[in-house]
Amino acid sequence: SEELLRLNKLCVNYKVKDGYLSAVKNVSFSINKGEIFAIVGESGCGKSTIAHSILRLLTEHNEIIKGNIFFNGEDINKYIDRQLEGIRGREIGMIFQNPLDSLNPVYTTGYQVAEGIILDKVSKKEAWNRVIKIYNDVKMPDAKKNAYSFPHELSGGMRQRVMIAMMLARTPQLLIADEPTTALDVTIEAQILNIIKNLRDKYNTAIMLITHNFGLVAEVADKVAVMYAGEVVEQGTVFDIFDNPKHPYTQLLMKSLPRKTKLEGRLQTIDGSVPRLTENLPGCRFENRCPYAVELCKTEDPEEKMVTESHSFSCHLEKVVMNNG
Ligand code: SF4
Ligand code: MG
Repeated sequence: SEELLRLNKLCVNYKVKDGYLSAVKNVSFSINKGEIFAIVGESGCGKSTIAHSILRLLTEHNEIIKGNIFFNGEDINKYIDRQLEGIRGREIGMIFQNPLDSLNPVYTTGYQVAEGIILDKVSKKEAWNRVIKIYNDVKMPDAKKNAYSFPHELSGGMRQRVMIAMMLARTPQLLIADEPTTALDVTIEAQILNIIKNLRDKYNTAIMLITHNFGLVAEVADKVAVMYAGEVVEQGTVFDIFDNPKHPYTQLLMKSLPRKTKLEGRLQTIDGSVPRLTENLPGCRFENRCPYAVELCKTEDPEEKMVTESHSFSCHLEKVVMNNG
C-alpha cells in the first residue's frame, strides 16, 4: 500500500548549557496509508518528542530538528510555520493522554467538534447533524444530549471520544495518538481502542500510536517501532516483534510481559538507568544495562541490520558472535 509518512534520520537535539542533548537520534521509519503504527518504549525514550517534532509542537524553543519528515512525499520539516499550519489538525491530527488540556472549557463539546466542519463551509444545521453522526461513530452515549455538554461535565472516556470526534470532523490522513488511554481504566481503554481501529477501517486513517503498553501494541498495531533512549532499536510487524524479537532490549521486554491478559502488558523496568544523552557519545545506548554487552558496544554505534524486508534491529550481537567464532 501507499506510503503516507516517512521519517528519515530524524534527530532532535536540545541545546543545554554545556552542549547538546540528543533526545531523538537517527530515527527512520515509514507509515503507510491506513496503517496502525505503534511506537513503544519507556517514558522519556523520545516517543512524544517524535510526535511533537512532526507537528512542530516542541515547547522548549531551543531544539534543533534535523533529518526529513516526508508527508505524502513532501518534506514538511522544510515547511515554514504557515505552511505547516495547513497540515496541522487538517491532515495530521493529534490526541493526547489528557483531553482536558486540549478542550476549551467555555464552549460545548459539540460546538468544538463543529468548528472543524464549519471550516469546510457547510451550513450550521448541516454541521450539527454531522456532529451527531460523528458522536455516534465514536460511540458517545446519548449523542444528541452530550453534544450540548461542556468538557467538565463529561467523564475521561467521554472526553477522549470528543477529542477523537474533533479529529474525525477534519478527516485527517494521519492521527497521532499519544498515550490516548493511559489515564483511562481498562474497560474504557478497550472501547477507545476499538473506536480508533474502526476509524482506520472506515476512513483508512493511518494511526501513529504512542504507548508504553506492549499489550496495546499487540491488540491494535500492524507495525511496531521499539525505542530506547531516543533511538529505534528494532522495528517490524507485530508478528516480527512478538514472535521473533532480535534486540536484547526487545527480548527483555517480551520476557517481562505478564502472560495473563495482553492488556495488562505494561513495560516493566529493567535494572540500571538510561545514560545521559550527550550528542556525540559513541557506542550503544543500551550498553550499561545489556546482559550481552562487550567492549565493542562501548565504542561503536550498532548499525541497523535487516532480518527480513519488514524487520530490522540495531545491535552488534551478530558481529560479536562472529568475532568470537
Ligand atoms: Fe547489547 Fe551491545 Fe547489542 Fe547494545 S550493541 S544491545 S550493548 S549487545
Ligand atoms: Mg510521552
